[in-house]
Amino acid sequence: MKFTKYFPVLFLLSFLPFLAMSQGENVDLNMIYKIKQEGLKNSSIEEFAFGLTDFTGPRLTCSDGNARGNQWAKKKMEELGFQNVRIEAAGDLPSGGWDNLKTYAAMTAPYYASFACNPVAWTGSTHGVIKSQLVLVEAKAESDLEKYKGTLAGKIVLLPSSVTYEPSFDPLATRYTDEQLKELTMATSQPRGRRQNSDYSSYMSQRALQQKIKEFLNTEGVAVILNGSGTFNVPKSVGAKYTAGSPEPVAELNLPVEAHGRMERLLRHNVQVEMEVEVTNKFSSSTTVYNVIGEIPGTDKLLKNEVVMVGAHIDSWHGGTGAADNASGCIVMMEALRILKSLEVAPRRTIRIALWGGEEQGYYGSKGYIEKYLANSETKEHKADYDKFAAYFNMDNGSGKYRGIYIQENEMVRPVFEEWLKPFADMGASTITIRNTSGTDHIPFNSIGLPGFQFIQDEIEYGRGYHTVMDTYERLVMADLKQNAVITASFVYNAAMRNSKLPVKPAVKSPESADKNRMQ
Ligand SMILES: [Zn+2]
Repeated sequence: MKFTKYFPVLFLLSFLPFLAMSQGENVDLNMIYKIKQEGLKNSSIEEFAFGLTDFTGPRLTCSDGNARGNQWAKKKMEELGFQNVRIEAAGDLPSGGWDNLKTYAAMTAPYYASFACNPVAWTGSTHGVIKSQLVLVEAKAESDLEKYKGTLAGKIVLLPSSVTYEPSFDPLATRYTDEQLKELTMATSQPRGRRQNSDYSSYMSQRALQQKIKEFLNTEGVAVILNGSGTFNVPKSVGAKYTAGSPEPVAELNLPVEAHGRMERLLRHNVQVEMEVEVTNKFSSSTTVYNVIGEIPGTDKLLKNEVVMVGAHIDSWHGGTGAADNASGCIVMMEALRILKSLEVAPRRTIRIALWGGEEQGYYGSKGYIEKYLANSETKEHKADYDKFAAYFNMDNGSGKYRGIYIQENEMVRPVFEEWLKPFADMGASTITIRNTSGTDHIPFNSIGLPGFQFIQDEIEYGRGYHTVMDTYERLVMADLKQNAVITASFVYNAAMRNSKLPVKPAVKSPESADKNRMQ
């Protein structure tokens, strides 16, 4: 064989890798077209939204409502033809289950007024109607509690508000402006910030004092504790520190600013206030946190055991119906797979959906899944499925439409996502930021070195809806959620069809170990 004879062929072959690279991501625009048509014209978003909010109700981790939500999701996934659908144990929540069965609160003197309140999760019951004088307990330091000793048993206690109400001139709902998106695009990766600033430490000492006050009121045997409603003036859903099996804490209610403010002002003007309160809560000893999982199996001989995952947390706080946080994420992910299923795609890799439990208490569901299949959380030792893990996409920033994606400092994935986002420029989703976003279920994946991502979303009404009684169906923007499902479906499809898994960040010396070396 003479070299010259084959030279043109060899010459071309030597360029193949470059040709392949310049060809980029090979986004199948026919498929994207079909995904858009199915997702925007035949959407099931409204139906899913009703199912996971109004129909199932709030889904506090380990509660009956949580179980109802899991059952609804499992049944729906089966109806949609997902495979290997299951409700799978993922860990143990120390506080166990808690459901509110009754809340009634009214002022009975100086005149009658009833109030809509939100009970604090994992606090106890009044065991019938309590009628009592209202006592304002004010403590700026632990020593201020001394004077109340022995005077509060059986009383309804009002804790003063920590914020002063002021009218807001900000819009209720917002979207990212072009300028803000540009800023995100131009952002550089953030240096490791110092966690301790003065705001943070004063917040922590306030929290510690609040905890001391609650302990004192419990020991004194008060009947009910009443709190204000915090920054957005809407009753917040929060939970008390509790371990299953220990004595139930005193019943505690969060009041709307108007109710709380009126009674606090009356008391400060030395007008006697009397209230009637009845609260019934149910504790359950079941501490198991569950995930709901389903999939569209892969079809490629070599790649079908690799997995592209999408997820969102199905647990919520108990005040509203956990609509923006995070039924919205769950239904977008379910709709993304429904779209692909209805288009009868044959993905090369397996596409798996996980609706996580226990996110609000600390990523119990996603961490449990990782522990079971991907890596030991302590030793970081990889498990069987680690090397078959291709990508994870999460949604948990409310109901707003996608404006792009956070690449979690994974610079290698930028050119890939640039191509994947191109067909969605007209939907306003083209921003790529190197920034990390945190606070939800993609973080445990990142922490074991796997490519987990979350999309940039418009905020809409996230402020006043976030963990409050206002987080209901009304907070959902259906048109935005439909777009999100379409973009998720195409990202997932691209990730499932790509020749290789998404690039991961190469290992580098962590700043801590670099510091250590310097010190030695
Ligand atoms: Zn959330």
